[in-house]
Amino acid sequence: PPFPIKLAGLVQRGFGRGGKDLGCPTANLPDESISPLSSVARTGVYYGYAQVIPPAGEDRSLLEDEVKVLPMVMSLGWNPFYHNERLTAEIHIMHAFKSDFYGFELRAVVLGYIRPELDYVSREALIADIETDKCVALNSLKRPDYERFTGDSHFQIS
Ligand code: ADP
Ligand code: MG
Repeated sequence: PPFPIKLAGLVQRGFGRGGKDLGCPTANLPDESISPLSSVARTGVYYGYAQVIPPAGEDRSLLEDEVKVLPMVMSLGWNPFYHNERLTAEIHIMHAFKSDFYGFELRAVVLGYIRPELDYVSREALIADIETDKCVALNSLKRPDYERFTGDSHFQIS
C-alpha cells in the first residue's frame, strides 16, 4: 500500500459501542475523510501518528500538550450498521486525554499495517490483542524513518 496515507476530518460521534469500556476509545472520521484509504482495500489494524486540534476560538493554550503529534492505532473495517457497504476508520490515540474531543479536527498519517480483523471468542482475547497492537505500533514508530513523520507538514498548524 502507498504509505504514508494522510487523513483529516472532524471527529464524528460513533455508536458508542464498547470503545471506552474496552479501555480503547476510537475517534471516528467522517466518510468523506476516508477516501485516501479506499486504495488500501485491506481491512484490519494500522498504525501511525495522529493529532487533535481544538476548534478556533477555544483556548488552545489549555490544550497545548494535546496538540502534540501522538502514536495511534487505526481500525479500518466494513460497517455492519451500513450493511457492510461503508468503510469506517476509527483511531485510538495513545494518550490519556482529559476530555472527549467530538467535533475537533483529527489529522493522521497512516504508516503501516499490523493485522487483519479477527473474530474474537471473548472480550479478554480482544483486549489482549489491542494491547499487542499498541506495542507493535510503539515499537515500529521508534524507527527514525517513521519518527520523522511527527514533523510532517500535514501536522503544521497555521
Ligand atoms: P464513539 O462510538 O462515539 O466513537 P468511543 O467509545 O469509541 O465512542 O469513544 C470515542 C471518543 O472518545 C472520541 O471521539 C474522543 O472524543 C474520545 N477519546 C478520548 N480519549 C481518546 C483517545 N485516546 N483516542 C481516541 N478517542 C478518544
Ligand atoms: Mg469509536
